[in-house]
Amino acid sequence: MTTPVSADVTGVVVARIRPRTAAAAAGLTRGDRVLAINGHRLRDAIDFQFHAGEPELELRVERDGTLLTLPLERRDADLGVELEPPRAGEIATCANKCVFCFIHQLPKGMRRSLYVKDDDFRLSFLHGNYITLTDLDEAAFERIIEQHLSPLYVSVHATDPQLRHTLLGRPRVSGEILPRLERLAKAGIRMHAQIVLCPGWNDGPQLERTVFDLAPLHPKVATTAIVPVGLTRHRERLPALRSLTADEAQALIATVEGWQHRWLAELGSRFVFPVTLVTGEMFGPRLRVLLAGTGLDRHGVRVAAVPNDFFGHAIGVAGLLTGQDVRRHLATQPELGRAVLVPAVAVRDVDGVFLDDLTAADLARDLGVGVRVVEPSPTALLRALGRV
Ligand code: SF4
Repeated sequence: MTTPVSADVTGVVVARIRPRTAAAAAGLTRGDRVLAINGHRLRDAIDFQFHAGEPELELRVERDGTLLTLPLERRDADLGVELEPPRAGEIATCANKCVFCFIHQLPKGMRRSLYVKDDDFRLSFLHGNYITLTDLDEAAFERIIEQHLSPLYVSVHATDPQLRHTLLGRPRVSGEILPRLERLAKAGIRMHAQIVLCPGWNDGPQLERTVFDLAPLHPKVATTAIVPVGLTRHRERLPALRSLTADEAQALIATVEGWQHRWLAELGSRFVFPVTLVTGEMFGPRLRVLLAGTGLDRHGVRVAAVPNDFFGHAIGVAGLLTGQDVRRHLATQPELGRAVLVPAVAVRDVDGVFLDDLTAADLARDLGVGVRVVEPSPTALLRALGRV
């Protein structure tokens, strides 16, 4: 049955329907806007996931200006629907001016999406983006708790309220981080914390205070990543910052290893973790040399050179890696760290799907760690390392 579409449509747009799935059988097609499931209006992809768990679904769909009702019978866990990512205007952005913000350090003229300062709990849940919780309102807190949007990824940087607000470039804002983390932890939300380490600002006793303030929230604060600040040449009119020296980096690693031994005994976890970069076997050795040259290997950034079992081991390029090979190889690694970064050449541009239809979200779910797709350029890599 069809009826004319009304104004005020929201919903989510279908990017792709996988063949031989329940969504294909129901007649859902690319470009359809799903407005409601079983009478529940959809605000975004999270609402779609939240309401699509029933065995029998009635989808309210807008197609070419007309409203349709499509019954859908779920056959298995995978409905077969991939959704369009939110448009720039639909993403919550931050009002912060972090002293280390990598976006402020980008040169002009790059791709517009690189300049989006997202601070959106939905992207944190769906894609592992870090959020500050600075401007999270009561309705958002309630939604996170009601829909159990877990895990979330939180930029902490410092637990001292004044220092944190100085780092975030908002010295007069009053929202403290620890009560917010405690509220989410009490509601059963798991979180991964990160600290962008700025020498002379939040290192030394402040770093110790921060990680030891976070440790009692384990296991709800599951991990904490310490990420040395990344600085580009483009810091005109930005606060004075410097990188860690080699000696400071070595001292930091020794300090963190001491904490890890203690936490392993007390919490059953090392609590503070590094990052894993995925690549093919051909580029793996080169990437390790490049990391050693920048000192990032000493900061806990590791390379996973994935053998290509799908096409054969003669194929060593990252662009022909399948999701299942990446998943299998990473599952054998003793520790993946805080996050896994996958090169964008291994996935399709439009929707981030590997050659074998697995997605970064599938890997994140199966490996229990955040997985991000990163453009294969030094700038994009440094930016991603600054944000995981
Ligand atoms: S680092 Fe993140 S939270 Fe801070 S200003 Fe940049 S985008 Fe906003």
